[in-house]
Amino acid sequence: MQNSSISKITLEGREFLVKRDDLIDPFLAGNKYRKLYALLQTPDNKYSKIISYGGTQSNAMLAIAAMCHKKKWKFVYYTKPVSKSQKEQKRGNYFYSLNFGMEHIEIEEELYRDFIASLRVNSDEKTFIIDQGGANTSAKEGLGVLAEEIRAEMLDVKSVATPSGTGTTALFLALALPEFKVYTTPCIGNTTYLKEQMSALGDIPSNLIILEPKKKYHFAKPYREFYTIYKKLQEAGIKFDLLYAPAMFEALLNQVDEEVLYIHSGGVSGNESMLKRYEQKFSL
Ligand SMILES: *Cc1c(COP(=O)(O)O)cnc(C)c1O
Repeated sequence: MQNSSISKITLEGREFLVKRDDLIDPFLAGNKYRKLYALLQTPDNKYSKIISYGGTQSNAMLAIAAMCHKKKWKFVYYTKPVSKSQKEQKRGNYFYSLNFGMEHIEIEEELYRDFIASLRVNSDEKTFIIDQGGANTSAKEGLGVLAEEIRAEMLDVKSVATPSGTGTTALFLALALPEFKVYTTPCIGNTTYLKEQMSALGDIPSNLIILEPKKKYHFAKPYREFYTIYKKLQEAGIKFDLLYAPAMFEALLNQVDEEVLYIHSGGVSGNESMLKRYEQKFSL
C-alpha cells in the first residue's frame, strides 16, 4: 500500500497538518487499519475465525468485519443485548458489518463479564481474539509502520496528535516515535482510566503527553462545542468523526502552541447516526 498523504488545513487561524489515514479505505481506515495491520499481513489460512466484542456502533467492529470479509475469515462479535430499533437500522456501522458477514451474538447483561473472560480459555489456534476496541499488542506493528511513514516525510513539525479511546494508538505511536511529542486526550473515561488502559499494553513513555479535557465529556454524548468544531473542520476541507476528533482539536487549540501533525483516526462512517442525534438534541 502507498503511504497516506498529508493535507494542510486552517482552523481558527491556526495551521494543522493532517495525515490522511481516513482515505485508506472506506471501511478499513484510520487507526483501525493501523491496529489491524499485522493481522492483514497474516496469511489467510493461518486463521479461520476472528472473535471480538464491545458496542454495536463501534468503529473497530466495522473495520474487523471489513478485514474478515477480505480475508474470508468468519467473524463472531459478542455484545450485550441490543434494541430492536438498532437492529433494524439500514445504515451505520452495525448494518455495514452485518453486510460484511459478521455473526452477531447477544449475551445477557448478567453473564457478559464472565462470558468475555472465558473466550480465551475456550479458544483454539485457528481463532484469533481481538479485545474490545482492538486493544491488543498485535496493534504495535501497524503503528510502527505509521511511525516510519511520518519519519520519512522529514517534516519541520515535531509534534503529532491523535485522540484516545483505549489509548492503544497513542501509546504504540509514541513508543515508535521517540523523537516526536505525541499529544492525546481521553475521549472515553478520564486520564486515570486512560493511563490504566495504556499501562496494560506497555510502559508509558515521556514523549506521550495526555491533555486534560477542559470539562468532563461523556463518550458519544452530543455537545454543541463538538458540533461547532466538526463544522469548522468540514469547512476547512476535511471530514472528521464526531466522537473523538472534536475533543482532540479542542484540547490542541486550548493547550498547545506549536504546529502539529494530526493523525486522522478515521471513524467518519459512524457520523450518520451521530448527526441524527445532534439534530434531535439541538434541533439543527
Ligand atoms: C477507535 C478510535 C479512536 C481511539 O483509538 P484507541 O487506539 O482505542 O485509543 C480514535 N478515533 C477514532 C475515530 C476511532 O475510531
